[in-house]
Amino acid sequence: MGLIDIISGHVNEAINKNEDLSEKRLAVCKECPLYKETPMGPICNPRLYINENNKTDYSDRPKIGYRKGCGCRLSAKTRLAHARCLVNK
Ligand code: SF4
Repeated sequence: MGLIDIISGHVNEAINKNEDLSEKRLAVCKECPLYKETPMGPICNPRLYINENNKTDYSDRPKIGYRKGCGCRLSAKTRLAHARCLVNK
């Protein structure tokens, strides 16, 4: 995500835009091993790597076929209609 997307996502969060879309997507993220609660809200954990194929296995170190968590604040990212999960969940 670029800077404009990051700002748009946070503005959407502030004005409660795309609430239904966000709730639906967050339900998927909550079942993901990369979901992490933080004092600033849930994030896609950038310290873990998820298997691109089965989208379930994960690693705490880089591996071929694994993608690093994006680090995004999920309550903002999930409100951007065009934003996508890094493994297309
Ligand atoms: S964006 Fe994708 S990889 Fe990240 S926590 Fe959500 S479902 Fe998992």
